[in-house]
Order: sequence, then structure tokens, then C-alpha cells
Amino acid sequence: DSYFKTPARFIPRVIFSKIEPTPFRSKVKLMAITKSVLEDILDMNGDKLPGREEFVDFVSGNVVLPGSVPLAHRYGGHQFGSWANQLGDGRAIMLGEYVNKAGEHWELQLKGSGKTPYSRSGDGRAVLRSSIREFLCSEAMYHLGVPTSRAASLVVSDDTAYRDQFYDGHMKQERTAVVLRLAPTWFRFGSLEILAKNGETKELKQLVDFILREHFTDWISVRKQYVDEDYIAMFGLIVNKTADMIAKWQSVGFSHGVCNTDNFSLLSITIDFGPFGFLDAYNPDFIPNFSDSEGRYSYKNQPDVGLFNVNKLREAFWPLLRKESSKEKMHEALDNYYPRFWRTFQRIFRNKLGLIREDPKERELMQLFLSILQETKSDFTASFRQLGLINFEWLEEVPSTAWALKKASKHKKWTQFLKDYEEVLKRTKVAEIDRVKLINATNPVYILRNWMAERAIRAADMNDFSEIWDLQKVLEKPFDEQAYAEERGFSKEAPNWSKQLKVSCSS
Ligand code: AMP
Ligand code: MG
Ligand code: MG
Repeated sequence: DSYFKTPARFIPRVIFSKIEPTPFRSKVKLMAITKSVLEDILDMNGDKLPGREEFVDFVSGNVVLPGSVPLAHRYGGHQFGSWANQLGDGRAIMLGEYVNKAGEHWELQLKGSGKTPYSRSGDGRAVLRSSIREFLCSEAMYHLGVPTSRAASLVVSDDTAYRDQFYDGHMKQERTAVVLRLAPTWFRFGSLEILAKNGETKELKQLVDFILREHFTDWISVRKQYVDEDYIAMFGLIVNKTADMIAKWQSVGFSHGVCNTDNFSLLSITIDFGPFGFLDAYNPDFIPNFSDSEGRYSYKNQPDVGLFNVNKLREAFWPLLRKESSKEKMHEALDNYYPRFWRTFQRIFRNKLGLIREDPKERELMQLFLSILQETKSDFTASFRQLGLINFEWLEEVPSTAWALKKASKHKKWTQFLKDYEEVLKRTKVAEIDRVKLINATNPVYILRNWMAERAIRAADMNDFSEIWDLQKVLEKPFDEQAYAEERGFSKEAPNWSKQLKVSCSS
């Protein structure tokens, strides 16, 4: 990133560095917890914890629990298309791995917990606004059914950091915060890339074998000595799972914002929520990150970027292969990326239209619908959901409650769309009641729109955290209409005051 002025201190042949979180100088406040994460993942009692000082000490990084050896991970990455060399956890510290009662392994990380050997000129902190966004969005994604890291808690301190907010060219002092976040593992594409790029082949093999043993046993049997075929299989799985993840992003209108290889998980879960954004009006050119002037990571570019990234990962696997023919095979795995992406994409969008089985015209129908949304600037999320409000047994008229579709129905091809839709519905023999059920189960009412996050951030700035709690509750059930959320207009288009909001990497 251009805002890091000093180059990284290169630390060869290292995968983790021991480093303790930096305690805050000021008092920290617990803003929010995710009860289900604390209870279902961490086996804690979510009702008792918030009042406990030792809990706040733990989730803020002020106190390290006995037995924990905090670590920062060394990784590299391709940023905006070019090799950026060593990056690493500059402001995230892993506290350790927790094996829960259900036998699941979870790695606990504090984000914003102070400097590490990989901080370069950064301060190791995360500001309140970006921490709220990560906390809310990772959980929102989980409940939308998208593979993602989780968030357990959010604390804020009175310690401040300077950040550029990209409004007036001035740096501002902002309060800093910490998110306790969880993933089965935080290893990224860049975790392997750094080792491959620097010829650290022994460490590369050690790490890949470790990841195979820890995280791929459902697909690849454990061996003492892994062979080329195992690495090819592992890579092939990552190719497919990455394609699936991006198809899911597209289906909920999610734009990650910074799809660098250091932000792509080897488990194909969504990680590192920064300047992300959900589509409001359907605009394939949508760029959530204000700093991404070229639009490299626009919504529509995400599938291509996924392919670019898995190709970079392929290069990182290279040094492990012993047979010349293996390189060829690994290359072939890339050919599966787009077919896999389209298969998943099509399956989800078929369901978004309420179609229960494949139809030869479904792709055309979907494209027609999307082009209508694009040309009428209709809301992506609401338009799909409101397809369930059209009654095909009756009049095919768009009811007034379907405000997004009302807008779309002004398009000259709207009647054509309805005609085609009805034809496909007849052919696939889906009952009206089942069509509506499927639509409501596939298309959320609520997503974390930028303006909603911004409202919660502004209230939190005034020490009112209730907006965060309200959003948590709503986004836990994104497919269910909720009276409170309707009153607030959470399923509606962004209000005018929010149209100029900008988010960027500086967080
Ligand atoms: P990101 O764009 O958040 O994925 O971060 C890219 C790289 O910059 C990672 O190595 C981060 O750890 C590092 N980084 C971002 N913000 C900070 C910060 N405030 N202090 C230190 N390192 C940072
Ligand atoms: Mg593990
Ligand atoms: Mg990152």
C-alpha cells in the first residue's frame, strides 16, 4: 500500500513471529458481542461475559491468557496486480487455536491490537469505523450463507490513531478498536507466495503439508510424505472453492473491495473486510473502494480477479512439484475455474428467480432481468426479493409494495421479461407457492448497506452502541422481514444523505 512509507524488514524463513498485543493506555469499552459465536464456537456463556472485566481485558488484548503464545504471521501478496513482497499481519495477532466441545478448531485473532514485526510504518491499530464494519459484515455474510470468518466481540478505546478519511485531504484523529475474529485458519494465498517467491522451499513444503493435514482431511488422506498428486488435488479444491465463494459474493451483490492475494483465504472463506460494499442499484461497474481508481476490484471484475489470484497461487505450488507432468496437471486445474464459477452462479441465480430446476432459457432470462435492473438503476437486492410479490395466477401486475420492481417495470422490455418468465415457469412446472418460497429463501430482505453501517458508526462515535446491536439482530435473519427493520427503511434504497459516503483502505 502506498501509505506505508518504510519498506518491510524482511524476515526470511519465518512463518510466525512471537509478539504480544499492545495494551491500551486508556480504558476500553465493550461495544458488542456476538452471543452465538461466543456460545456455539467458544463454549462461553454469552449472558454472563459482557460485565466481566477479565473478558474485556482478554478481547482487547490487554491481558494474554496463560498458555497463549501470541503470533503474527508472515505472508506476502499480489496487491493490485503486482507482487508486493513481504506484508504479514501488521495489526492482527493470533492468540492461538481453540478446539471446542464440538471438536472444531478455531484460530482466534485480535485485529487492531498493536504493532508487530510486519507493521512497517503502520501503527498496528484499527479505527472504530472499520472495526464496526468488519464486525457487522462478517456476521452478515455468515447469515447470508457465504463462507466467511466470524466476529466474536468489538471493543473501543480512547487511544487514537491518525487516518485520512478522503473527504477533505486532512488526517483526523480517530478512536481505535479491536475485533476478536475467528476462522478455522487465517492462512492466505500470500502465505505460500512469500515462501515460493523467496526460494524458501523447505518452509513452503512444511506449511503446505501442515495445512493439508489440518484442513483438507475431508478430501485428501493424511500421509507421511505428500506427493505431487496431493498438491494438485489441494490446488484443484482451492480453485473450485474460490470460484464458489465468488459466485456467492456475486449472488448477494457483495464487492470485497481489496481482492489482493493476501486477502484470499486458502480455505476460500471471505476474510479481511475493509472497503467492501453491497450493491444498491444494480451496477456491474460498482467500485466500493474509493482508492481503487481503476476499478480493478469492481463488482463485475471479481470473477476474473479470482482466476488471477488462483493462478498466482498455482505459481506458489510450483516448487513443490517433483514431476514435470505435474506442472501441466496443475495448470489444467485452472481450466475448471470458470465452468465451476458459472455452474454455481447459475444454480444460485436460478433459485433467485424462483426456478426449482434447470431450464434451457434460464440464463437468457436472468440476463434479461439483470439488464433491465441495470438500465433502470433498480435496486439489486429488493428487485429479486420482490419477484415474489408478483402473482402469476392473477394479474401479473407489479403491486405498489414492490417499489423496486415498479421502477424496473418502466423498462421497454419488461413485458417481454414477464412473458419469458411465465414461459419458463410453466415449463419447469413450479407451483406459485413454491416459487415464492424459494425466492424468499434465496433473496435476502436485508444486507449491510453502506448507509446502515454508517448510521451505526455515527451513533457509536457518540457512544451509543444500540444501532450496532439492532443491526446485529436484523442481519442475523436476513431472509425474514422484520417490523423494526422496515420502520428504519433497511430494505429500502439508500437515503440521500448517504449518497456521498466513501470508504477506502485507510482504516
Ligand atoms: P489490508 O489492506 O487491510 O488487507 O492490509 C494490507 C497490509 O497492510 C497487511 O499486511 C496489513 O497488516 C497491513 N496494515 C494495514 N493497516 C495497518 C496498520 N494500521 N498498521 C500496520 N499494518 C497495517
Ligand atoms: Mg489449526
Ligand atoms: Mg489484509
